[in-house]
Amino acid sequence: MDKQAVRQTLDQLAAFLVVKGEKASRVRALQHAARSELLATGRSSALDELREQVPPGLAEMLRIPGLGAAKVRQIHELLGIESLAELEAAAGDGRLAALPRFGAKTAENVRRGIAHLRQASTLRLFHHAQDEVDAVRRALAGLEGAGVLRVEIAGTVRRRCEVIGALDLVAVHEGQGAREALVRRLGEAPGVTEIAGREGSVTLRFASGTVVEVLLTTPERFGLDWIRATGSPAHVAALETRARQMGISLSAAFSDEPSLYRALGLTWVPPELREGTGELEAAATDRLPHLVEPGDLRGFLHCHSNYSDGTVTIADWAAACSAAGYEWVGITDHSKSAAYAGGLGTDDVAQQHLEIDAVNARVSGIRVLKGVEADILADGTLDYGPDVLDRFDFVIGSIHSRFGMSEAEMTRRVLTAMDDPHLAIIGHPTGRLLLQREPYAIDLEQVLAKAAARGIAVEVNADPHRLDLDWRMVRRARELGVTLSIGADAHSTSGMSNVAVGLGIARKGWLEPDQVLNTRAADAFLAFARARLVAAG
Ligand SMILES: [Zn+2]
Ligand SMILES: [Zn+2]
Repeated sequence: MDKQAVRQTLDQLAAFLVVKGEKASRVRALQHAARSELLATGRSSALDELREQVPPGLAEMLRIPGLGAAKVRQIHELLGIESLAELEAAAGDGRLAALPRFGAKTAENVRRGIAHLRQASTLRLFHHAQDEVDAVRRALAGLEGAGVLRVEIAGTVRRRCEVIGALDLVAVHEGQGAREALVRRLGEAPGVTEIAGREGSVTLRFASGTVVEVLLTTPERFGLDWIRATGSPAHVAALETRARQMGISLSAAFSDEPSLYRALGLTWVPPELREGTGELEAAATDRLPHLVEPGDLRGFLHCHSNYSDGTVTIADWAAACSAAGYEWVGITDHSKSAAYAGGLGTDDVAQQHLEIDAVNARVSGIRVLKGVEADILADGTLDYGPDVLDRFDFVIGSIHSRFGMSEAEMTRRVLTAMDDPHLAIIGHPTGRLLLQREPYAIDLEQVLAKAAARGIAVEVNADPHRLDLDWRMVRRARELGVTLSIGADAHSTSGMSNVAVGLGIARKGWLEPDQVLNTRAADAFLAFARARLVAAG
């Protein structure tokens, strides 16, 4: 690690500590300790653990120019804000300006800073990109009198990639003659500050910093152009090769996607699969997977209540999950060694279980299950003894500390945890935070093989900052016969929307309903989770 990288890492460490409310003297001491570790190993365990403790949305806020750690802490404490979107709203509606030492000018600077951040960062998380491009889609679809027939999202957002660079739309207009008028209207659309045209497409730059590529097409060519604007280069190239071999011209009229795939002897390929990784071969022989859908999910898994670092009561989780149509909800608070996240001591566990029993007795239509997200300690043991673990309906085991182990040590740590018959699910299996922290070193091949052999599920953590297991490895897990679970990792009811993002990753990994643990009824889920305990007698 060079000097500048060390400096930046130490600055980040300090910012996280200030956000957490640490005193200046302690910040300096921890920086000092981290410096030698960084020089020796290139990694700081203190920083890795802070990234676990500071909500990812706050880490994003620290990147807003002019908004220091002390102010981020103030915003979080006084307004309860944890995301850029919430902050943007507060900057717009006067709540931010009303904070002590803020004022209208600071609020305006924050608003501009967020715009700048969007503009400056070429890569952003899926959920931010989806919100952005969908807002533009709605604005363009509402252009009246400009002959816009339809506007659709394309590109990596439509393919539900985990990290997004460019934003792409396809706009359908009436005939070639209408194109010029449309381009003029696009340039006048709300918020557009710049428009640059190329053949058949325009680039729109918005005051917010958002840049969107809009492909212009006619109804006759819409199917072909939507496929071109959606697929990865490899997918599109494979289609072109196939068309050439079959002597079919792709410049012919294909007004919808299925008709083009059909002409090439293929079934329609869901957008998530259009990565050029074997989907055409499968589509040619009608062997594409029947991908898991939102309506298949019966259980809501991995959520934190106000017993640990969540903000929601058990009764509120039951009500929210019931209202969302789930049959069961698996509450999974942190275990005792996760002191930073209010992990539950043994007495807390007993109290929580009484409360869950009471809610189950009172509420109908939803079943609350007693789960836990137990830390996998450095030696591979789970941090409650068997007597306490026995009291849970199911156990997720996750790593929240000591990320800097060697690959051999880390792999052994997880494989050891898998020998504990209580372990039902491995949580966020690589510890990555997208655009913030690399995965820890681990031999996933060994972990997945053992998970398949032992009947342990592996999580697709649906927090949009994690999306861990990576979809490429989800596909590998599927091949090996591993059962996967979609874990919301929600700390408030707004985190319930994570499931839709995680579902996109499950679909990208070719998962069908029976490969996803959440599609099972509560009793079948419990049978899976406790199968090894039952076998062990
Ligand atoms: Zn976790
Ligand atoms: Zn969690």
